Amino acid sequence: MRYLLALLLVIALALGGTWFVAGRMGGPPIEFKQPEKFIGASTPVEVLIGAPVPQLKELRIVVEQNGKSFPVYALGDAGAEVKEEGAEMVRVTRTVGRDNVPELKSGSARILVTASRPVLYGLRTLATTASRDVQVRLERPRVSVVSTHHFVNHGGAEAVVYRVTPDDVRSGVVVGDIEYLGYPATSAGLPDVTIADPALRIAFFALRYDQDLNTPIRVFARDEAGNSARADFDYRVFPKPFKKSRIELEDKLLDRVVPAILEGTRDVNPTGDNLQKFLVINGELRRKNNEKIASFASQTAPSILWNGAVFHPFTNTGVQSAFADHRTYIYKGKEVDQQVHLGFDLASYAGTPIVASNRGRVVFAEELGIYGNTLIIDHGMGVQSLYAHLSSIDVKPGDTVEKVQQLGRSGMTGMAGGDHLHFTMLVHGQMVNPVEWWDAHWIEDRILRKVREAGAAKTQ
Ligand SMILES: [Zn+2]
Repeated sequence: MRYLLALLLVIALALGGTWFVAGRMGGPPIEFKQPEKFIGASTPVEVLIGAPVPQLKELRIVVEQNGKSFPVYALGDAGAEVKEEGAEMVRVTRTVGRDNVPELKSGSARILVTASRPVLYGLRTLATTASRDVQVRLERPRVSVVSTHHFVNHGGAEAVVYRVTPDDVRSGVVVGDIEYLGYPATSAGLPDVTIADPALRIAFFALRYDQDLNTPIRVFARDEAGNSARADFDYRVFPKPFKKSRIELEDKLLDRVVPAILEGTRDVNPTGDNLQKFLVINGELRRKNNEKIASFASQTAPSILWNGAVFHPFTNTGVQSAFADHRTYIYKGKEVDQQVHLGFDLASYAGTPIVASNRGRVVFAEELGIYGNTLIIDHGMGVQSLYAHLSSIDVKPGDTVEKVQQLGRSGMTGMAGGDHLHFTMLVHGQMVNPVEWWDAHWIEDRILRKVREAGAAKTQ
C-alpha cells in the first residue's frame, strides 16, 4: 500500500513536472517584419511565427484603435499569404487598410498578433502575444508643380520647383525608374531670394544620355505608410547628337596604364595579356568606379552651396573630348571595345592648376581606378562636380572650397593618354553634360528664375 502511494506520488510529481516544464517551453515565437511605423490605405502586415502551420492551434492578427478591436486574420482565413520557411517557421503577410478595416482612422493604432500551439497531446495550450504601435495615415500626400518652362536636353539636367505636403514625405522627380530627391526651397541659399513657404521644394534631375527621349518625367511624393501622389508637368525634351570617335590602343599606352591602374585597385583582378586586362578595366572597373562615384550623392548638402554663380567653364583649356562621346576602341586594326565617355577632357600644359568649378564641400579625394586621382565636390541638393586624372590633390574630404580655389594639379593618372583634366557634373550621381552649368543664361533660366518666381509668388 505504501509502495502504491509512493508510486502515485512519483507519477503525480512527474506529470506536474512535465506540465510545468511544458508550460515553460512557451508559445510560438512571433517576430514583426513590417510595418515599421505606419499603416496606410493598404499596407502589408508581415509576421514570422516560430512554428509550422500544422503545429499551430491558433493564429490571429487584430488591429486595435480607439478602444475597438478589428480582426484582420485568423488561421485558415483566405486573403493572407502564408508561406512555410523551412520546417520551423511560417511567414504570414496580410494587407491591412481601408478595404478590410473600413472603420480605420488616421491616428494611433496597435497591431496585435496571437499565436498558440498545443503541448502534452493537446492537454495544454501555450500562447504568445506580440504587439506593435503604429500610426495610421490614410490621406495621400498633396503635390503640385510651381515652376514653368522646363527644357530637358538629352544627357543634361533641369530643375523643378514644386509644393508638397505633409512635410515629412519623400518627394522629388522620377525620370523613368530613377528618382531625384527634392529639397526644401527655404534653404536654397540664393542671394536676393527669400522663400518662406516650407512646403516648396527644389529638385534637380537629369535625362541620362542612354535613356529614351520619351522617358516619362513627373514629380512624385510618397509617405512612409505607402500613400503616394504624382504631378505631371509641361516639359520639352531636346535630342542632342552625341559624337562618335575611334581610339587607337597602342601597346605603349597599355604598358603604362594597365599595371598602374591594377596596382591601385582591388575591384578587379584580371588575367591574360595587357589587352585582355585593359578590356576588364575599361568595362567592369569603369562600371564599378561609376557606381562608387554615384554613391557620394547620398552625402549631398540639403541646400544650394554655390550661391547661384555660373560654374567655372575652364575656357583657358582645349576641349579634347565632349560629353557622351561614343568611343570605339581599335587594337592592331581590330575593333575590341565600345564605351561612352561621360565627361569633358580639357587639356592645357602638364600640371595645370585645377580649380573648383564653384563653391562646395569636398566629398571624395582619392585614387579611383580609371579616373586616377579623383576629386568630387558637392554643391548641394544633389549637384556635384568631378575632376579626374589629377597628378596632385591639395584638399581633403570635409573641406569647404570657394569657386576657383585651387584643388590640385592636372595629370595623367588612371586611364589617360596624356596630361588633361576629365571634368563632369553629377546630378544625384548621374553624370550630366557640364556645358549647361558653364552657361550663365542656362543657370538663370533653368534654376535662378524658377526659385525667384516661387519666392515671389508666396509673398504676394
Ligand atoms: Zn575623360
